[in-house]
Amino acid sequence: STTTKDTWTKTTCAYCGVGCGIEARPTRDGALEIQGDQSHPANFGRLCSKGLALGETVGHQGRLLHPSIAGTQCDWAPALDTVASRFSEVIAQHGPDAVAFYVSGQLLTEDYYVANKLMKGFIGSGNIDTNSRLCMSSSVAGHKRAFGADCVPGCYADLELADLVILTGSNLAWCHPVLYQRLKAAKTARPELKVIVIDPRTTSSCEIADLHLAIHPGSDVALFNGLLAYLAQHQHLDPAYIADHTEGFDMALASARRDAQDLRALATITGISRQQLTAFFRLFAETEKVVTVYSQGVNQSSQGTDKVNSLLNCHLATGRIGKPGSGPFSVTGQPNAMGGREVGGLANTLAAHMEFGNDTQSQMVSEFWQTETLARTPGLKAIDLFDAIDSGRVKAVWIMATNPAVSLPDSETIQRALTQCPFVVVSDCIADTDTTRLADVLLPAQGWSEKSGTVTNSERRISRQRRLLPTPGDGKPDWWIISEVAKRMGFGHAFDYRHEADIFREYSRMTTLDNTTAASPARRVLNLSGLANLTPEQYHQLSPQQWPVLDQPATTSETSISKRLFANGQFATPSGKAQFIAVKYQPPLNQISLAYPLVLNSGRIRDQWHTMTRTGLSPRLGEHTPEPCVTLHPDDAACHHLTSGQLARITSRYGEVTARVTLSRSVRAGDVFVPIHWNQTTASAGKVCQLIGPQTDSLSGQPEFKFTPVALAPL
Ligand code: SF4
Repeated sequence: STTTKDTWTKTTCAYCGVGCGIEARPTRDGALEIQGDQSHPANFGRLCSKGLALGETVGHQGRLLHPSIAGTQCDWAPALDTVASRFSEVIAQHGPDAVAFYVSGQLLTEDYYVANKLMKGFIGSGNIDTNSRLCMSSSVAGHKRAFGADCVPGCYADLELADLVILTGSNLAWCHPVLYQRLKAAKTARPELKVIVIDPRTTSSCEIADLHLAIHPGSDVALFNGLLAYLAQHQHLDPAYIADHTEGFDMALASARRDAQDLRALATITGISRQQLTAFFRLFAETEKVVTVYSQGVNQSSQGTDKVNSLLNCHLATGRIGKPGSGPFSVTGQPNAMGGREVGGLANTLAAHMEFGNDTQSQMVSEFWQTETLARTPGLKAIDLFDAIDSGRVKAVWIMATNPAVSLPDSETIQRALTQCPFVVVSDCIADTDTTRLADVLLPAQGWSEKSGTVTNSERRISRQRRLLPTPGDGKPDWWIISEVAKRMGFGHAFDYRHEADIFREYSRMTTLDNTTAASPARRVLNLSGLANLTPEQYHQLSPQQWPVLDQPATTSETSISKRLFANGQFATPSGKAQFIAVKYQPPLNQISLAYPLVLNSGRIRDQWHTMTRTGLSPRLGEHTPEPCVTLHPDDAACHHLTSGQLARITSRYGEVTARVTLSRSVRAGDVFVPIHWNQTTASAGKVCQLIGPQTDSLSGQPEFKFTPVALAPL
């Protein structure tokens, strides 16, 4: 072994929202040995291929090591001075809404908090949005409409306690693999636990499915409206729960019935046979303990928020929420999508789950931060923000820890917007990405294993990411970089942090502000009062804690037990009751045509993460899917004169990419699937976001990544 010593440090995986606990120790050659943390409640020692390979991705290869201005390496001081002065000039000339931050679910909560505080609190604009907009914003909007707060009610143990688990729009086996391993083990131990997969594709998650509903992309609202109508028709509602704890049921049911007047029509809309529809409805109706897991197949849609509420309606109508083995369960994509949401990373929220448009809360945030310039209106959501850059309304943007030139839809427009933007700052730990190439100022950030802070996983559990290795070059924590710019902009009194623990304590204290009013008596659910006085040493030792955390743990190395929200039927709405939302099926905004006769679905593959800047460094992760591919049904291949292994040109109204053909009956005839990961750096022809249009859900602003009309032809 090349290990230097026998000390393992506990930290958290850098990838998905399962938030697995990892133990790591440095090796003599500068890499890391990795093993699962047996004591972490997310994974109990399990890790997937990506987590296990983290140690292979921590080298200095490809790292951004030094600040630079216009491509010339420089020290920190001139780089920070330049960012501060250019932002200040733009604000002085054009107002605070002429600048923007675009941040990332890869940031730690402390980084996110400071970025949000600078933009919304002191610059005075709401223009900070995050790549979580692409991932979870429909769930956020759906949660807020139904529960009055952006909260996942359940915990991972519910998947093991349920008698029926529905995976809808979620290939859990590949995208949240450890959660899938837990579900699979539970089903092996208890075969009566039934699993239903609702997905246009036959994914790896179908290996444990008792029923697979290969739904027409985009028709989820019709399906869940059909379920609600069935539950009412067959007396499977919980009338006492509906009466005591909810509002709006009659309107929601009336709307559902209009979508589900007869099973034949529903079968046509959803593409699911009447027999399968009935089997699904019966299983849901007759099983008391049901968990519905949902992810990007639901969220990334022009009707994403309504899809979320259509399935929340079914859980509320049966009282299946906040109980062991029961509840809707949004699984987040990124390691810290939840943490970012908590501290106001989305343009339409304030920090600590407080809201724009609520004078009491705005006043409270202003006083807490001691600022008179708090933004009073929401900022621009991701797609609108880049539109504003493209049209020249936003004249300076700072992009942190993300690669929007690859990951946002209509990437040619994004590329053009950043090229013509007068001032682009990128802070990242990777030197060469499609986005860093467009930067005027580059700022080297610490990467996973170098930085220290907290992340929140999909079950609301806050875990520490810990420093394991020295930082190469001049890399710094994101919170430090942002604070240094803030000081140079004249806000030093509010950004005088010495340690990430200072920031965590301040954020935790913010969650304890009592924002109840006569008109809005419900207290926020997000409350970290038990963590508001941690010493740096206690912060260092902090074990995974699921919020709310009302009391300080007896020892900070004691992991909190899992909690469920809304168990008492009290919700965070003004009335304290959950809200049914009347939703109506709407077809996706873009429809297929003679010119573009196939539906493109995009998503992750098993062993890669986002734009491959980290996972691409591990040769063994690359073996699973070595190059951009398009998966299509053999019948479609025949129609389009394509054969397996051939290169195909895929075109949409927005662009063109090339990918190698894979034939499979796992996709429906009429659909094609392309992975999201490849980009200009890894394969000039494989950037799928060049094909995808900028259409979004009007409520959440989340783009429609799962339904793009395309044409295919041999290259
Ligand atoms: Fe990391 Fe997610 Fe895999 Fe866990 S399941 S090891 S968090 S990528």
